[in-house]
Amino acid sequence: MKIKISEIEKIENKTKTINFSEIIEEFNPKVPVNASLEIKILTDIIKISGEIEAEINLTCDKCLKEFTKNLKFTVEEIYNRYSLQDSYNQEFEIKADNFSQDLNGEDEIDITDFVYQSIILHIPNKLVCDINCNGDENINKYIKTDYSDPRLEIFKKIKIEKDN
Ligand SMILES: [Zn+2]
Repeated sequence: MKIKISEIEKIENKTKTINFSEIIEEFNPKVPVNASLEIKILTDIIKISGEIEAEINLTCDKCLKEFTKNLKFTVEEIYNRYSLQDSYNQEFEIKADNFSQDLNGEDEIDITDFVYQSIILHIPNKLVCDINCNGDENINKYIKTDYSDPRLEIFKKIKIEKDN
């Protein structure tokens, strides 16, 4: 979904509310990502705020099984309509945030991309399928059934280190 800034400018309060519902294959090919967003033009900046809800497919770091996680969070982002570099000249240091959100006079904002990037930022660093996940099931089976085999000591060690 893309929105035109010039279209929002025609609206009396320069604010548009959108209900987004799209499949984003990378996250989940079956369940759409939903978002309700408000896009507001404030002279040289555009503010996008609202809520995003997604059910995403992930792989567990411990047992490598696939699992789904529900994400629901609020967003608030500012886009600069024109390049900040123009206004600040050479004195301006490009900051990662500003750089990615400069529209450079473009009339379009890609809402799908905005939602995509927001979700990426909200995926936790450590992905565990369940609070009780103990990692690879086969490794656990060895540890439980045979403590005496020295060849399996290495697995015990791996597990203990993981838990710490
Ligand atoms: Zn797991």
